[in-house]
Amino acid sequence: MLKSAGYAAVNAEEPLRLWEFERREPGPHDVQIEIEYCGVCHSDLHAARNEWGNTVYPVVPGHEIVGRVTRTGAHVTRFQVGDRVGVGCMVDSCQRCASCAQGLEQYCENGFVGTYNGEEMHTGGLTYGGYSSNIVVTEKFVLRIPDNLDPAAAAPLLCAGITTYSPLRRWKVGRGQKVGVVGLGGLGHMAIKLAHAMGAHVVQFTTSPGKRDDAMRLGADEVVISKDQEQMAKHANSFDFILNTVAAPHNLDAFLTLLKRDGTMTLVGAPAEPHPSPAVFNLIMRRRSLAGSLIGGIAETQEMLDFCGAHGITADIEMIPIQRINEAFDHMLRSDVKYRFVIDMATLKEERRAD
Ligand code: NAP
Ligand code: ZN
Repeated sequence: MLKSAGYAAVNAEEPLRLWEFERREPGPHDVQIEIEYCGVCHSDLHAARNEWGNTVYPVVPGHEIVGRVTRTGAHVTRFQVGDRVGVGCMVDSCQRCASCAQGLEQYCENGFVGTYNGEEMHTGGLTYGGYSSNIVVTEKFVLRIPDNLDPAAAAPLLCAGITTYSPLRRWKVGRGQKVGVVGLGGLGHMAIKLAHAMGAHVVQFTTSPGKRDDAMRLGADEVVISKDQEQMAKHANSFDFILNTVAAPHNLDAFLTLLKRDGTMTLVGAPAEPHPSPAVFNLIMRRRSLAGSLIGGIAETQEMLDFCGAHGITADIEMIPIQRINEAFDHMLRSDVKYRFVIDMATLKEERRAD
């Protein structure tokens, strides 16, 4: 077995702390990666605190992983020792179902294997995520990070980037369209950058007036304080598409009424508690749609990374030592992140050396 160390939650109440564990040795199709950086997604917090009710402890969160290849199995063809690579929210899927055949591994009909809190396909062991020193992943689920991107700032692309890119592509966002982004956090700030790069007119909705200037700098054309009903009313029936990234239950009708005929609002935010359900009339009167979307497939994740490489897009990050992860979670709960925490994994090595 391969020795690993990371920060784990041992139950829903206690802070994350250093934990040593083992991973499988790389098989013929596996790549072993030394983790350099890992982004902190709100899903990590939902999982650490068992907010979705499915956490198996101890859990090592983290699915925005960037690092270097340190070992490759005999049949690995696409990667070599020393390559800079990324791993996102999935590390495996059945590869046989209709969704996998279409490159939509996130919708694998037999259930994809999550990067953490998942069950490994071949060993049946638990998966542990990127708040750790190393990871072993089958080659097919390893991504290439464009050379021109800063590796720490590229880490959040592996979840926040693909989760926003995929629906923007699916609903064909582009020039001439008015697109809303609800919530300016990790996902929201990537959505602004990507929708702007795709040529859309971008309107950022936020509950935090202090984020207005940042939203404009990130590429929004307009900013609306969503608690201000007068500002909201000015945008009634005008949006082609709205991407909702909010991590808490809220009134969806306030946004559905801003869609024009045949417009769609897609939810990517995944609060533990349900939203108050939308009023049916807000959907039927203008044939509006309410949809959802889950991360993106592996091929599309590589496409997104290459798109970001071509446009020089990365996340705006606050780098933290791993010892500050619990503090970072508290900031995230207060909507106070500018705009993604990324863990510098060298700080894990230092802590272990000091032991
Ligand atoms: P985040 O950085 O914490 O950002 C969430 C933003 O939502 C906050 O910054 C805040 O923006 C807004 N918000 C939070 N609480 C709110 C409230 N009570 N009312 C209104 N707005 C509120 O989180 P994230 O990492 O971007 O993740 C967002 C959500 O997406 C999480 O639920 C996460 O689990 C989920 N997620 C889903 C997928 C998927 O595949 N569908 C993938 C990754 C993450 P303002 O300050 O601008 O209002
Ligand atoms: Zn995530």
